[in-house]
Amino acid sequence: MTFDPLKDGKSRIELVSSMGTDLDVVNDARASFEKSSTELTDKDTKLINYLIKHHHTSPFRGVVFKFKVKAPLYVCRQWWKHTVASNHNDEQLGWNEKSFRYVAATDEEDFYIPQVFRQQSESNRQASGGKLPSDLNQQAIAIYERQCQASYATYRELLNLGVSREQARGVLIPSVYTSWVWTVSLQSVLHFVGLRSGEGAQSEIGAYAQAIAQLIAPIVPETIKAWQSSNSQF
Ligand SMILES: Cc1cc2nc3c(=O)[nH]c(=O)nc-3n(C[C@H](O)[C@H](O)[C@H](O)COP(=O)(O)OP(=O)(O)OC[C@H]3O[C@@H](n4cnc5c(N)ncnc54)[C@H](O)[C@@H]3O)c2cc1C
Repeated sequence: MTFDPLKDGKSRIELVSSMGTDLDVVNDARASFEKSSTELTDKDTKLINYLIKHHHTSPFRGVVFKFKVKAPLYVCRQWWKHTVASNHNDEQLGWNEKSFRYVAATDEEDFYIPQVFRQQSESNRQASGGKLPSDLNQQAIAIYERQCQASYATYRELLNLGVSREQARGVLIPSVYTSWVWTVSLQSVLHFVGLRSGEGAQSEIGAYAQAIAQLIAPIVPETIKAWQSSNSQF
């Protein structure tokens, strides 16, 4: 299953593969007793609820997901701050990203251009508030598109002069799309979804977080249910 979180026909997130289910969570938890189940029972579901409620987190690290993501560079930049068990600084799990040193940006279609602009929030210096009135929204779209086109045109001009891709990419603006493969534990993915769906998170990354929750729900349904009902911050 693939989602287009930003609904522009360009953004994308898909679950490429996964290891483990709710059953692995309970079996990892029962490793301490040298016990394991072959089927998920009511008792196991209760155990999952117990583990979440009491922050016994390590059994949720034995379930792993691999996502392929295409998102604007500024969303990628926010995502990259989630370092633990989606690691890019040691050998644990992984992050592998498209390189604009190898691959040239293709055309101006490769930029995310919002169709609904939000006003600057007055109470939260980091956040946005209500929508811009529609006439101003149209103007904002036109200005934004113009800058994306200019960025791409400048980039092409530099490439055409023979400038290297690794230097020319410096003129691509942060709404340019990039893509990466994210391998992440269940604990870390819940932590990500919790933070990025929460109040104050930017709605663009929030849309990816919501899609992730939908993608993993069929694989770990009891964990998702228990996590959502506990309001637990993993
Ligand atoms: C709404 C919002 C606004 C944000 N604004 C900014 C911003 O303005 N600027 C900015 O730079 N970042 C910002 N961030 C990113 C934020 O500071 C976190 O880096 C990001 O959310 C990842 O969270 P995390 O560190 O908990 O996740 P992970 O890196 O996955 O870490 C998971 C958990 O491991 C523990 N942990 C991780 N590293 C360490 C460590 N070195 N020592 C001890 N414990 C550790 C912590 O308990 C942490 O919660 C923002 C995030 C959100 C959700």
